Amino acid sequence: MTIFKDIIDGKVPCDKVFENESVIAFKDIAPQAPIHLLIVPKKEIKNLQSLPSEDMPLLGEVIKVAQQLAKEFDIQEGYRLLTNNGSLAGQTVFHLHFHLLGGRRLNDGLA
Ligand code: 5GP
Repeated sequence: MTIFKDIIDGKVPCDKVFENESVIAFKDIAPQAPIHLLIVPKKEIKNLQSLPSEDMPLLGEVIKVAQQLAKEFDIQEGYRLLTNNGSLAGQTVFHLHFHLLGGRRLNDGLA
């Protein structure tokens, strides 16, 4: 059980920007760019490495939502979609999620 599960269940408020039956997206509470959204499959999956093959279609859903939100937030020309897998990569919430970042020139480095 994570804070994202509570958000999905409506027990903790969020600034929601998208929701359908399998995915929710909301603004990150501590934004690292002018646009910083979190795209979260609702199913409780710890991270990318734990994603079972039968749930791979969720990744396509996430990408579709990212495309739509990039358009809506007018960052189509430059954004980053990323996931931190594991604490060594900076994962702090162990419920699979993707950061959609944009709205300024993003740093050149990836790591
Ligand atoms: P991670 O570090 O696991 O890749 O990303 C977790 C993200 O969730 C962080 O960017 C953090 O700011 C965000 N976050 C943590 N708790 C909350 C919360 O309660 N609400 C929202 N909207 N974002 C959160």
